[in-house]
Amino acid sequence: MQTAPTFALADTMRRLGTESAFVMLAKARALEAEGRNIIHLEIGEPDFDTPSHVKEAGIESIRANRTHYTPAAGIAELRDAIAAHVSRTRGLNITRDQVVIGPGGKPVIAMTLLALLNPGDEVVIPDPAYPAYRSITTYVGAVPVSVPLQERLGFRLDPADLERAVTTKTKILVVNSPHNPTGGIMTPQDIAAIAEIARKHNILVISDEIYNRHSYDAEFASYYGMSGLPEQSILIDGFSKAWAMTGWRLGFGVFPKYIADAVTALMLNTVSCTATFVQDAGLAALSGDDRPVQAMREEFLRRRTLLVEGLRKIPGVTCEMPGGAFYVFPNFSKIEPDDVKLANHILEAGNVAVLGGSTFGPNGRGFIRMSYANSEANLREALSRIGRAVANYKS
Ligand code: PLP
Repeated sequence: MQTAPTFALADTMRRLGTESAFVMLAKARALEAEGRNIIHLEIGEPDFDTPSHVKEAGIESIRANRTHYTPAAGIAELRDAIAAHVSRTRGLNITRDQVVIGPGGKPVIAMTLLALLNPGDEVVIPDPAYPAYRSITTYVGAVPVSVPLQERLGFRLDPADLERAVTTKTKILVVNSPHNPTGGIMTPQDIAAIAEIARKHNILVISDEIYNRHSYDAEFASYYGMSGLPEQSILIDGFSKAWAMTGWRLGFGVFPKYIADAVTALMLNTVSCTATFVQDAGLAALSGDDRPVQAMREEFLRRRTLLVEGLRKIPGVTCEMPGGAFYVFPNFSKIEPDDVKLANHILEAGNVAVLGGSTFGPNGRGFIRMSYANSEANLREALSRIGRAVANYKS
């Protein structure tokens, strides 16, 4: 019998990472298929429905046959609305030609790095961080350089650590506030200190502000808006988190125009464009009633308190109060320093899906990421399951 031929994959595939949330979700789903009841605290998506006026706009758009290609950077109406929205919320004067729309913030991040990096360029990335920054950086042969986010600083970036990470090869710094996975937020003082380093060393800063509507204790401080360096800054934002639109796939970037043109060329060569009716729904989200977004934030705020207070009652666990996003990042290192092993135990023995902190970078070792995009009842149940699972834990 003839065996089917196999073909070597591109060498670059070895440099591409993965995202533990999607891996853990698949594992948890497999257990559910066996009949287990799992509480999902692993995936970073709001459990709320997309606001109805947004859904209606998408449906209406399909009915009106807005189902064809659009320009690669997006429809003019939405690019204008994003330019106006960013101008208003970040205190800048943004124009349509700076805005590129994509099918999610994630592809916009990827295209931005692809558009800018040559092999050997260094990208300073907080550790821990959203995995896509590091994965795409290594994929193109550039070099990720970690700068630690420390628990004792509320997971903020220490400017002295940042300064130490910078070399003559540093091209890009990625910042993300509110932060995934820690929930940490940058203060206006942090922004000033980071901007000073970016200016001094001529570094381009990518500011991922996708959780900007999820700031709880202080008004959201935007690096993009407050750095005073828009010509050497890029904004990443999107609709997934604020409007509970993860599955629609809609995000955007705001760039200096020549970078916007390069990112648009990459969009054109890959996705061609973002679905027309999805862009129409995004327009309704930006221009419509904001109360559903505010209501989701209020609900997240209640859950944050519940989860942090519950975690602090588990012997051996410490937990910072996160200032934003919808994640907590408790320290379980006294119970088990190998966070991935512990996350697997919590799934197997406790039926709660959580993520090991080190899957976001080595500095996350000993921590567990939990998303509180789940009901208060489920969070309470998850807390008692986790408490039981770690009470009798033997490494
Ligand atoms: N940036 C951060 C920090 C995230 O956590 C996520 C999603 O989890 C994204 C960007 C991308 O989201 P999306 O591609 O759904 O817009």
